[in-house]
Amino acid sequence: MRIKVLGAAAGGGLPQWNCTCTNCSALRQNHPHIQSRTQSQLAVTADDDAWFLINASPDLRQQLINNPEVHPDPAKGLRNTPVAGIILTSADLDHVLGLLLMREFTPVRIYATRPVISILKKNSFFQMLDRLPGQSRWTEIEPNVSFNAGGGLTCTPIALSNSLPTYISEEDRTALVPTGATIGVILEDPQGARAAYLPALPSVSAPLKHLLSTCSSIFIDGTFWTDDELQRIQPGTPLARSMGHLPISGPDGSLETLKYLKGTRKIYTHINNTNPILQEKSSERRTVEDAGWEVAWDGLEITL
Ligand SMILES: [Zn+2]
Repeated sequence: MRIKVLGAAAGGGLPQWNCTCTNCSALRQNHPHIQSRTQSQLAVTADDDAWFLINASPDLRQQLINNPEVHPDPAKGLRNTPVAGIILTSADLDHVLGLLLMREFTPVRIYATRPVISILKKNSFFQMLDRLPGQSRWTEIEPNVSFNAGGGLTCTPIALSNSLPTYISEEDRTALVPTGATIGVILEDPQGARAAYLPALPSVSAPLKHLLSTCSSIFIDGTFWTDDELQRIQPGTPLARSMGHLPISGPDGSLETLKYLKGTRKIYTHINNTNPILQEKSSERRTVEDAGWEVAWDGLEITL
């Protein structure tokens, strides 16, 4: 199995258009110890041929251009793609806006849980993916039920939270059964290599702890260093936990909670532009690296 990080930043990317935090400013001043990142996006293949996108970021067009693995093959005709499917982990804008960039009539298979499909199908924007019969093939997936995505890739959705995107109406919120609104995924190839991708991790339950111990590599929510990271910059903004993101630091942060994992390749991704781990010389970066973690960057590829 090959996994490639096409984008490692959280929503807004790095730098974020309206932000003058230390990181965003450093990038605009060409600081040597920080690199820009596009919004969170993963690609995976189990057979080196069929690639699956995990989510569809607002930066997807550029991410598909930047990575030759997902380019169309001229030998296969005028219109084709190695992208065999898209697996959605939520209906958050940062995870679905890229679908609208894939509307040029090439058939695409989309795997998502019931609430995510309901939300997207109700929005007329996404009807652009259904202009031809069979153009998009929506396949419902369920937490804890493994499915064969194709190309030898088995995927198991893990329910992480029932929180629905803030953009949906109160009426829809009341009508929806939110089970599986936010999931993580366990990816497995035919040889049994396993990886976890959890870009929005609100907490770590005992069953999830066990599941992570069965994976050789894990990509974990690295959105925020502290719970009040955004509030310190902009009073009135929500806490990390209230947005479904377990912060990295602190006695019950992800660094401490996951330190039992020995011999697992541990990678923080979905990193918000405010997070000090993005500065390569920061003490926070040293802390995560000393604990055996890596900080994802655009183009990071791992082979399992
Ligand atoms: Zn910033």
